[in-house]
Amino acid sequence: MPFRRPERLFKGYVFDLDGTVYLGDALLPGAKRTIETLRQAGCRMVFVSNKPVNTRQSYADKLTWLGLPTPVGDIVNSSQVLIRYLSGRAPGCRVFPIGEQVLCDELTEAGFILTESPEEIAYVIASFDRTFVYRKLQIAFDAIRSGAHLIATNADAYCPVPGGGEPDAASIIAAIEACTGHKIEFIAGKPSEMMARTALALLGTDPEESMMVGDRVETDILMGHRAGMSTAMPLTGATTLEALAQNEVQPDYILERLDHLLPTRTNAQTVLQ
Ligand SMILES: [Mg+2]
Repeated sequence: MPFRRPERLFKGYVFDLDGTVYLGDALLPGAKRTIETLRQAGCRMVFVSNKPVNTRQSYADKLTWLGLPTPVGDIVNSSQVLIRYLSGRAPGCRVFPIGEQVLCDELTEAGFILTESPEEIAYVIASFDRTFVYRKLQIAFDAIRSGAHLIATNADAYCPVPGGGEPDAASIIAAIEACTGHKIEFIAGKPSEMMARTALALLGTDPEESMMVGDRVETDILMGHRAGMSTAMPLTGATTLEALAQNEVQPDYILERLDHLLPTRTNAQTVLQ
């Protein structure tokens, strides 16, 4: 039996959303009980998503609508981390996002200038883009050959949706890398160190007292692992036991469902002090 549940509660939890807390528009089994129990026990939690096609507010609204009231300040997404990165390096610079409207709006609101003139572009931003066309690839190609940097919101191969998946930012990154020979310089989303630092800063807990919970080894579990957190993986999303067995990185805990994150004898006060 490969499943293993934690024996205690942690002071802070970082939860992935898609495939961990919900799939599509439905909470996964046990998710509501888990979040509510941890909140009642006084545990801190933040929710992280690599998906850059929704605003942080829309994630907060979705959790709230699903019965788990959550403030926007408890959400971290990859576009927010990317904007932090860019703001620290080249505030207000000219960028060309291959991404959807939400990302374009967030960049504009953060003071960046969107342009399609290759020689003006300082950063090409590869992202999840269901409006992708060849013309965008041409602009990225010309810009990078003129010296633009190449960064990405995330590097997920696909985004799980009920019954399948949608090609994600990895395919856009691969297309640009293939034609330019230029390698991606920064990826904001999981498993980046900057995303882990952003989440831990919001939690206000040390990594040793914190648990990363997510359904993907190469993003969620790897990020938690590198950041020195404990890691738990519910088998409700992108990873199967067979696929997990092939992986070098292993979660500390493997859960059949999310509420197995709760210790069998939950007495939060005594565990948390
Ligand atoms: Mg996930």
